[in-house]
Amino acid sequence: MILFIDNQYYSCCQCTKSYKYFSNLCRHLKLECGKEPKFFCPIAGCGYKSKQKTSVICHAIMKHKMVQSSK
Ligand SMILES: [Zn+2]
Ligand SMILES: [Zn+2]
Repeated sequence: MILFIDNQYYSCCQCTKSYKYFSNLCRHLKLECGKEPKFFCPIAGCGYKSKQKTSVICHAIMKHKMVQSSK
């Protein structure tokens, strides 16, 4: 018997992240959880850092009005 449960999320036991798909949680555990942030904001003196490059890019665009170059 297969049981489908709505709004079921897989949550990480080491932090507060939760994911809809088990594979996403696996990826989180493997790549993100417990890891030091690898990406830093390029603006001197800002100090923002993240484990995801896209977060840093979003931060730089939103906070520093940086324009993402496509070249
Ligand atoms: Zn985690
Ligand atoms: Zn910044």
